[in-house]
Amino acid sequence: MLVHNESITILGAGLTGALLATILAQRGMQVQVIERQQDPRKIDAYAGRSINLAMAARGMNGLAVAGLNDAVAPLLCPMPGRLLHNSDGTQHFQPYSAHEHELNYSVSRAGLNAILLEAAEQAGAEFRFGQRCVDFDPTENRLTLEASDSDTPHRYSLATARLIAADGAGSPVRRAMAPLPGFDFEESLLDHLYQEIAIPPKDGQFAMEAEALHIWPRGGYMFIALPNPERDFTGTLFMKATAADDEPSFQWWQDPERAARWFETTFPDVPALVPDLADQLQNNPTGVMGTVRCNRWHLEDRILLIGDAAHAIVPFHGQGMNAAFEDCAAFSALLDTASDWRDLFQRFSAARVPNANAIADMALENYVEMRDTVRDPKFHLKKALAFELERLAPDQFISRYAMVMFHADIPYATAQERGRVQAQLLDRWTRRHEVISDIDLGKCLREAREALPAL
Ligand code: FAD
Repeated sequence: MLVHNESITILGAGLTGALLATILAQRGMQVQVIERQQDPRKIDAYAGRSINLAMAARGMNGLAVAGLNDAVAPLLCPMPGRLLHNSDGTQHFQPYSAHEHELNYSVSRAGLNAILLEAAEQAGAEFRFGQRCVDFDPTENRLTLEASDSDTPHRYSLATARLIAADGAGSPVRRAMAPLPGFDFEESLLDHLYQEIAIPPKDGQFAMEAEALHIWPRGGYMFIALPNPERDFTGTLFMKATAADDEPSFQWWQDPERAARWFETTFPDVPALVPDLADQLQNNPTGVMGTVRCNRWHLEDRILLIGDAAHAIVPFHGQGMNAAFEDCAAFSALLDTASDWRDLFQRFSAARVPNANAIADMALENYVEMRDTVRDPKFHLKKALAFELERLAPDQFISRYAMVMFHADIPYATAQERGRVQAQLLDRWTRRHEVISDIDLGKCLREAREALPAL
């Protein structure tokens, strides 16, 4: 049996570290959380970082383990589907699911983090803000920290019995583990960047349809916008960092007039909503995105990676935080059954790595779907057919998107595998048809049953 009153050190008080701290402290463990930033409840720690996030079933499940769904509910803006803003000025709403009750929600990163920090403190976790990890010795489990919480910044070393690294995509702990035999990881940066553009309320109201994730798909790049409870939207432009001069890329930002002209002609309904668009294009920071894959997430019973530190993914499935909260729920469940910490870390890592790899792949694929495939009429026919089959036989056919977003009981790896087979079937079923009424749904279901086990 695990000893529940022992000490755990968590590095990173972001979304994952704060939720895990809450769950462990609620179980009576002595949790100490080390964070490089000052307390984000007291300063604007989020300047330049994604302001809102899509939350779905896996994220909600993680929050439920800590009993936090009610506390987070006021922060949630429902998004039942995508609203596509086409180049010809038309708009097309596409529901996310065959079922009305299946929704995504937009949630403020800062608001969510504040609730998690509050909950962790209430449960007894101790936070040490303004302490940056500048080195980690994995053989001794020793952190070197730089304290910026006093007038005289200084370095000191902190020995930890058990360290859980929730220190994000650039995790210094993961990088320090690189030389260890049997530990391998890969970091790959996307050659696209993102830039956020704030879309303020208009006359005190949402400037566009509130209950949707807005997408302007343009092939090689896209602009999206998610609603916030304050009735503004956070828009994000995703585009190549560099390209040949005749292809749009953030290189064009070196010429502010060219950038503004291009933006205005490419997303023509946006400029009227953003009075200071040219300023924002010029001054808002750009961010990088990437994927981290590790062959395992632990060392013995001493070190564990979790959240983005273990499996950062690109944001196009809206699943990075959701996957991290699913980590926390899985970790919590193992606390009840693991024989000791080594067993827990080993089982956690073995169960989570294949699922993290699966969502990493699907997130990369979803970029192409969001910016390009959604423009293809065949894509809409396939979606409509998938929804129809799901309504008729939900134990047999659920779209891959819905499995990922709304079915936390279906592991990511299963969603990926079934999704592969379903994509081939949907290709075949729609190849010679333009409308759903021409398709033999009974035959589709029979073939789905032959190709896939029931869910
Ligand atoms: P982080 O949020 O990176 O937190 C790590 C923490 O560790 C930070 O507080 C950091 O200050 C601290 N830290 C780092 N280094 C040190 C150090 N050396 N010493 C001490 N402390 C340190 N996910 C979704 O589910 N839905 C979405 O819609 C979504 N949209 C996104 C959009 C964008 C543009 C981006 C970039 C990401 C998006 N994500 C989304 C992913 C989501 O933001 C991450 O998965 C999530 O933030 C991971 O949380 P984390 O706590 O593991 O890592």
